Amino acid sequence: MTLNALTVDVEEYFQVEALARHVDRDEWDRLESRVVWETSALLDLFAREGVHATFFTLGWVARRHPPLVRRIVAGGHELACHGDGHRMITQMSPAEFRADIRAAKATLEDIGGVRVDGYRAPTFSVVESTRWALDALRDEGFTYDASIFPIRHDRYGIPTAPRAPHRIASGEGAGLVEFPSSTLRVAGRNLPVGGGGYLRLLPMAYTRWALDRIASEGSPFMVYLHPWEIDAQQPRFPLGRLATLRSYHNVDQIVPRLTELLRAYSFGPARAVLQSLDLLPPPPAGVAASVTA
Ligand SMILES: [Zn+2]
Repeated sequence: MTLNALTVDVEEYFQVEALARHVDRDEWDRLESRVVWETSALLDLFAREGVHATFFTLGWVARRHPPLVRRIVAGGHELACHGDGHRMITQMSPAEFRADIRAAKATLEDIGGVRVDGYRAPTFSVVESTRWALDALRDEGFTYDASIFPIRHDRYGIPTAPRAPHRIASGEGAGLVEFPSSTLRVAGRNLPVGGGGYLRLLPMAYTRWALDRIASEGSPFMVYLHPWEIDAQQPRFPLGRLATLRSYHNVDQIVPRLTELLRAYSFGPARAVLQSLDLLPPPPAGVAASVTA
């Protein structure tokens, strides 16, 4: 059975881009933190289901909650990087981006005591205009990126990007491995599949059908979600209709839906999936593969 990637972006509910207009960065430290409780609930769920995941974690969160980072590592999960301060790459200069990923990687590796290989940009912000970021990632010691969404979307996406995991052969990021977010190809267009928001918004029958279609192409798919997506008690902000749907719709249904997927398909960390495809070198001998089917 194909191994698929289970991934979590570890961030606070108030750090999402939809809230940037409502919550100032300077206020972050004064808001109620919920990420430890939320992420712990996901860790408990994954332990119950016997599955390992990749946790793309913010440096900002890691510095405030080192025991959470250690719990992720101790659970046999892959610790990866979601940047430091959850700034979209489109809002950073190349020098600022380098400082951001360098700080986050060092923080995560110090606290976790493991090597961090993978990166996912806040809000999938590796787009046409920020492809230069792939060079920076490779030069800073990342071996794979999971930031490209091959779709047309109001805030992100490279609609013409390859849909399957691959090694970037030339141009920006040459040598780096890319694990794009999963899409379904329909009538010449790519539709997004497997994100927490889509899991909450779309009927399960559709999600299962779409994931089966991707599996039938012989490609692994990637599920991604955020800790706040399982938290029905999170403080709510007055958002527009679309942002409200994206942020809060069906929050109470994600755990049963996710559990259904975990039982129906084989999942592991993104790095293990890329290793299974020979896109990344195998884990060193003596290290148990962190994969439980
Ligand atoms: Zn994020």
